[in-house]
Amino acid sequence: MIRAEGLRHVYKSSSGDKVALDDVSFTIDDGEFIAIIGTNGSGKSTLAKHFNALLLPTAGKIFVNELDTSQEENIWHVREKVGMVFQNPDSEIVAAIVEDDVAFGLENLGIAPDKIRERVDLALDAVNMADYKKFAPSKLSGGQKQRIAIAGVIAMQTPVIVLDEPTAMLDPQGRREVLDMVKRLHAQGKTIVYITHFMEEAAQAQRVFLMEGGRIIRNDTPREIFTDAKEMKRLGFDVPVAVEIAERLRRKELKLPPKILTADELAAALKKLSPQLPRG
Ligand code: ADP
Ligand code: MG
Repeated sequence: MIRAEGLRHVYKSSSGDKVALDDVSFTIDDGEFIAIIGTNGSGKSTLAKHFNALLLPTAGKIFVNELDTSQEENIWHVREKVGMVFQNPDSEIVAAIVEDDVAFGLENLGIAPDKIRERVDLALDAVNMADYKKFAPSKLSGGQKQRIAIAGVIAMQTPVIVLDEPTAMLDPQGRREVLDMVKRLHAQGKTIVYITHFMEEAAQAQRVFLMEGGRIIRNDTPREIFTDAKEMKRLGFDVPVAVEIAERLRRKELKLPPKILTADELAAALKKLSPQLPRG
């Protein structure tokens, strides 16, 4: 579905050139849930903007459904395939009423008004925000605003959704709402590219791209990446809580199996070590 080959992006400015992406290659299959993690400035947002031709490669290529994003005649087809959700919901909301905001992208496509209304209602239902369709977005919480932004993308019916740190400005409740929504969309068959600096979120993806200095330095399952506590520490990342606890217990000579990722796996491993603990 999406394929990058030797993708390179250089920002040119008067103070000199900045290489933001350097020889990035990958493929993402239809229906996959990919998380992208990496330190600040590692190139995550630059990469995100290549998925729907908001930026074009300095060198190399990225293909969406075999469409080369750098060919001008492909841009609108690419944007029909890939919807984007950004970090700051306030900068994404354009209308004074929720339903108008969700309809905005559709109106630009010249879709008939009754069709638009139908798609908007379905999209608001999908994010559990139907009761708010006449509300002013300014009256909503951050998590609700992000769900409205996601509804806007759902209404566009793109098969791919790219989210660039959509939970960065949200409280824990709002983060849960957005991640649950994303997981639901994935379960419905959407291809998800989810950029986050919350490792617990990234651990729920099927595959993780770890970026550093404009490159993808690891492309692997969350289990392989997050149980590599040494690498995570080197990059200054938190590891998921269960990984951290398992690591500490191993240091206390507890014979836990390697690569424990989740609380459930840790509980199961501990029960095996202590048969006297209650089961269930
Ligand atoms: P991330 O999203 O991982 O924090 P970015 O893709 O935003 O990283 O940035 C990658 C690098 O490119 C950083 O060094 C950043 O300072 C630089 N950069 C980002 N946007 C611009 C821009 N518009 N002009 C010049 N440099 C930029
Ligand atoms: Mg960024």
